[in-house]
Amino acid sequence: MHMTTEMIIKPGRCIGCSTCALTCSLVHHGVFDLGRANIRVHRDDLAGVYELRFSSTCNGCKQCARVCPSGALQLVDIPSDEAKNAGEVTKR
Ligand code: SF4
Ligand code: SF4
Repeated sequence: MHMTTEMIIKPGRCIGCSTCALTCSLVHHGVFDLGRANIRVHRDDLAGVYELRFSSTCNGCKQCARVCPSGALQLVDIPSDEAKNAGEVTKR
């Protein structure tokens, strides 16, 4: 069975380390620059939680999820047949 890797986002687990954003910037621009990352880590001080926002320039490479230490960004393998079937159902 063929598998496909999907990214799952659980903002409630984020600890605000910005490792994801720094990695994105490094992989795509060769520099550590939060301003050039395709993911933004924003702290909602009132709610005391972090929000994760992906820009439209995110290409879905999933490198950010590979380095997240807290499980806020996770990679899971799902059968590609299921993904395909889900797509077919959506199209009908
Ligand atoms: S998926 Fe890739 S491009 Fe998108 S935010 Fe993560 S590292 Fe950056
Ligand atoms: S999503 Fe993960 S890597 Fe990114 S700031 Fe939150 S805990 Fe750190």
